Amino acid sequence: MASDRFVQLPDMPTPVRESDAAYRIRTMLGEMFWLHTNREARTQQVSLGPSEIGEPCEQKIVRRMLPGAMMPNHTKDSWLRWLGTCVHAGLATAAEEYDSGRQRFLIEHRIEIPGQRGAPPVLGTLDLYDRKEATLIDHKIVGERTLNRCANEGPGDKYSIQGQIYGFGLALQGETPKSIAVVMWPRDGKSIDAMQVHVESYSPQIARDALRRYWQLHLNVASAEEGNTVSELLKATPLDPGPLCGYCPFYNKKAADVLSGCRGKDA
Ligand code: SF4
Repeated sequence: MASDRFVQLPDMPTPVRESDAAYRIRTMLGEMFWLHTNREARTQQVSLGPSEIGEPCEQKIVRRMLPGAMMPNHTKDSWLRWLGTCVHAGLATAAEEYDSGRQRFLIEHRIEIPGQRGAPPVLGTLDLYDRKEATLIDHKIVGERTLNRCANEGPGDKYSIQGQIYGFGLALQGETPKSIAVVMWPRDGKSIDAMQVHVESYSPQIARDALRRYWQLHLNVASAEEGNTVSELLKATPLDPGPLCGYCPFYNKKAADVLSGCRGKDA
């Protein structure tokens, strides 16, 4: 017997009736999405990439490097991240077409910075390098809140350091980057008019400082694991709590101890 289900859709004043057929399609698509995005997540590198090395919260970096660290804060699904991945793929196709074989651009280009102090190499894929402008271009697909914040405060250290590390990786390959451009594409807008482009000079020193911090934190983690002092390390590592803690996989405001999560500003 058919058992219609009631589903509250966004912007609908009253629940709509969903038939069994609709429910089956919803379930099948949800499973398709979950399996695909989960496979993507599994193939992600386990070492830290350029997007994580500029993370302001050292506590988060350390937890990220601890194998088996508890991640109590599960986000519902990776829809927003996947939207970003799809837009990046589309922008790469657009760049290929625009370049049309001129070799002006490096597109979705791999960089590798050798590891030090026992840390693995930093591997990453930059979005776009414009050889004519000697500019590294890093796309960010962001919601309105981030767009507004960046309009007032700039892209912030994390995005800036990510771009500088890509620049550093390019320089190791013999390229001569002069500038880093962090480009904010509006995820929620109706046109690209709201795009923001934040340009800064390439600074190998910024990249080196960030890499040194990462290598030191990596060393701290390795020593703590060897000496069985992970709790002590977590207690001693600085936190940088802020409005984004709610999105941090390690956030757990009810954590009874450091091993079961980070309490953010309540730690
Ligand atoms: S919850 Fe906040 S303070 Fe704690 S590790 Fe995550 S980002 Fe850092």
